[in-house]
Amino acid sequence: MNGQISAPARSNFGVQTLGEIIDGKAFAANLLSTITAEVAKLPFKPGLAVVLVGDDAASRVYVANKIRTTEQAGMLSVHHRLGADTTQAELLALVARLNADPNVHGILVQLPLPKHLNADEVINTIHPDKDVDGLTVVSAGRLASGLPGLVSCTPLGCLLLLQDHLADLSGLNAVVLGRSNLVGKPIAQLLLQQNCTVTIAHSKTRDLAALCKTADILIAAVGRPEMVRGDWIKPGATVIDVGINRVAAATPGKTKLVGDVAFAEAAPLAGFITPVPGGVGPMTIACLLRNTLTAARRIEKIER
Ligand code: NDP
Repeated sequence: MNGQISAPARSNFGVQTLGEIIDGKAFAANLLSTITAEVAKLPFKPGLAVVLVGDDAASRVYVANKIRTTEQAGMLSVHHRLGADTTQAELLALVARLNADPNVHGILVQLPLPKHLNADEVINTIHPDKDVDGLTVVSAGRLASGLPGLVSCTPLGCLLLLQDHLADLSGLNAVVLGRSNLVGKPIAQLLLQQNCTVTIAHSKTRDLAALCKTADILIAAVGRPEMVRGDWIKPGATVIDVGINRVAAATPGKTKLVGDVAFAEAAPLAGFITPVPGGVGPMTIACLLRNTLTAARRIEKIER
């Protein structure tokens, strides 16, 4: 919990407090240190395989970042870079080999795949016990059923930030804006497991502002720059902004990143709020390595 903003004292779940910016970068750095220390205690190296198909520039940057962070944590990084003309059969065969590779405990196929490939089929070929992105149908089913499994990284990162700042989430009203399989739905499932009363909102929801105003926890995952305004925020609420939107900056020709929440308006009202950048974003890669460690321990039957 770092970086207090200047805001008037007010009631936060009955306690006089100042709003705080949640420092996801610092939290993620601590989490990575803990993971690195845990990895060092293992009698083997957890292995994360990352598969990149084609030449998407943003994907290349993400993958390079993942490989570097994996190696820094003392894990084995297995990297497969395939041409844009790779066939579905070739990609499925690679995933099958990685499923069978005893040195690989986690498999990530970087999305988006080139258009001629069927991403759903590729993702669902990943063995669920190695599905460190938590994107297979089996992982989604395990999460919905409350069974042990791997949870997609961004939702898991949001939960860890919430638990760190609120401790007990039980009984809180949570509104999740967005219902994607990647973010909205798994976050809603995680919050339900924590005994929140969860409402999932989407593009057809009526009177979003009034609904958001009921939220003790507001998760914004819509991909609409600064859609959530200050007067949508219940005073003292915890606001988790998952959105990453690139918009024009004040300087002509420059761009900047903003979230789905109008931060300057919301921060003075929120009890806790994540900034963009520096909030949820850094948690995603830290949770990828956390999932790889979890998968490795389960596969190798190592007690915690
Ligand atoms: P999707 O486009 O898959 O889903 C967006 C969701 O928002 C949909 O459910 C959609 O509703 C809903 N929505 C869109 N417009 C509105 C609106 N005007 N009012 C209410 N709901 C609306 O996006 P993702 O879930 O993949 O990502 C959401 C955001 O999170 C993006 O900005 C993305 O960049 C970011 N992101 C950030 C990550 C991180 O590491 N921090 C990781 C992943 C994503 P409907 O279903 O009705 O169409």
